[in-house]
Amino acid sequence: MVDDKLKDECGVIGIYSKEQKVQDMLYFGLYALQHRGQESAGIAVNMNGAIAYHKDTGLVSEVFSDNSNIEKLEGNMGIGHVRYSKDSDNLAINAQPLVVKYKKGSIAIAHNGSIVNTNSLREILEDDGVIFQTTNDSEVIANMIARYHKDDIEKAINRVMELLKGSYSIVLMTENKLIGIRENQGIRPLCLGKIDDGYVLASESCALDTIGAEFIRDIEPGEMVIIDENGVKSIFNDKWSRKRLCIFELIYFARADSRIDDISVYLARKEAGKTLAREYPVDADIVVSVPDSGISAAIGYAEESGIPYSIGLIKNRYIGRTFIEPTQSNREQGVRIKLNVLKENVEGKRVVLVDDSIVRGTTSKRIVKMLNKAGAKEVHVRISSPPVVFPCYFGIDTPYREHLVGVNKTLEEMCEMIGADSLGYLSERGLISSTGKEEGFCMACLNGDYPMEIPREEGAINE
Ligand code: AMP
Repeated sequence: MVDDKLKDECGVIGIYSKEQKVQDMLYFGLYALQHRGQESAGIAVNMNGAIAYHKDTGLVSEVFSDNSNIEKLEGNMGIGHVRYSKDSDNLAINAQPLVVKYKKGSIAIAHNGSIVNTNSLREILEDDGVIFQTTNDSEVIANMIARYHKDDIEKAINRVMELLKGSYSIVLMTENKLIGIRENQGIRPLCLGKIDDGYVLASESCALDTIGAEFIRDIEPGEMVIIDENGVKSIFNDKWSRKRLCIFELIYFARADSRIDDISVYLARKEAGKTLAREYPVDADIVVSVPDSGISAAIGYAEESGIPYSIGLIKNRYIGRTFIEPTQSNREQGVRIKLNVLKENVEGKRVVLVDDSIVRGTTSKRIVKMLNKAGAKEVHVRISSPPVVFPCYFGIDTPYREHLVGVNKTLEEMCEMIGADSLGYLSERGLISSTGKEEGFCMACLNGDYPMEIPREEGAINE
């Protein structure tokens, strides 16, 4: 549940309506996607052909705390973005959507994911004299679209999709169209919904529910959807495509009430907890979850094992994540500020503690200590995913290998390190089966099987 280590992970939304003003819906939709990024937020709308926008660093509620910032964005088509950035580039200038003007008109673009060959693409553009104002991938994409836009923008986007390597789900707005793009392996999610007289694109279906839109379907890997006055049209990129949805979306990142690629995030997590109970049973008195990320799996563990689920930890609801600098000392302090033990429930008990993942190991270690101090007789840690042992280059901020505590450690060593009485991780097979699918996931952070080659510029895999 420690929320301080995502980089370049984001949430996007786009709305097209024939008659309605969409700025309020964009705002509420972004609210529903806030878990995908807390560093900056922004909305761009089309006001009779001209694009107006407001964006800044901060939570959605902070960026739009002044009503006038929303009121001045009146339009019937728009896009929105929430962003988590690497700490060093958390500048207002990097907030999205990015709005640019070029020979063929204006576009606004918002992007979720991580392009792994941006450095070389940027260099090619810079060698040609292009000046960049931000460090984000969206500006590279916008520049490439401008460069290839000769007759229609769809062709230009198709060409750009061929050149981009990495993960990206994009919403893009021109003067008269809303366009959604999901890259060929569909690593990041993107779905389509319907409102009365229009359509919605969003990173997760929970945003559709929030604004009363009806879920239609997920955008397919390699698909571009074009929404305009004629309705919805799809173009499929010729490039080979194969679904490799990021498994970490299901383990941790997405909201439990979302459905992604026909998978209910809640049910997958609960099922993972059930499988974990079969793979690593233990005699205990209560099952406790690490809030909020471990709740669904803990419910599954309790259901399967017959051990009662109980509240053992209370989370401070008013903690954002922006104030936490991702340094090791602050991270430890962060766990204490966020969580406290409910002594009444754990004292004298044998506790099964369920969380979704161990990354640096700080969270589990701290919580085990807190439970022991509060009088728990035994603490058995159960993790509803396999050990995270490889870095992610596609948006989830798993750190370099040297900080991944699971690397080069046996289960016994890990258990000792976090101070638990026993430790069990869900198997890779168990994790896949919990989704109800046979395959179709990027699990590189767990097994090193990357869905594409990582250019050297992004750092060697063992770094
Ligand atoms: P750690 O202390 O690094 O082992 O943190 C593990 C905790 O952080 C678990 O409770 C996860 O729910 C949560 N977590 C896992 N991955 C991430 C991530 N990329 N960003 C933020 N939190 C995460």
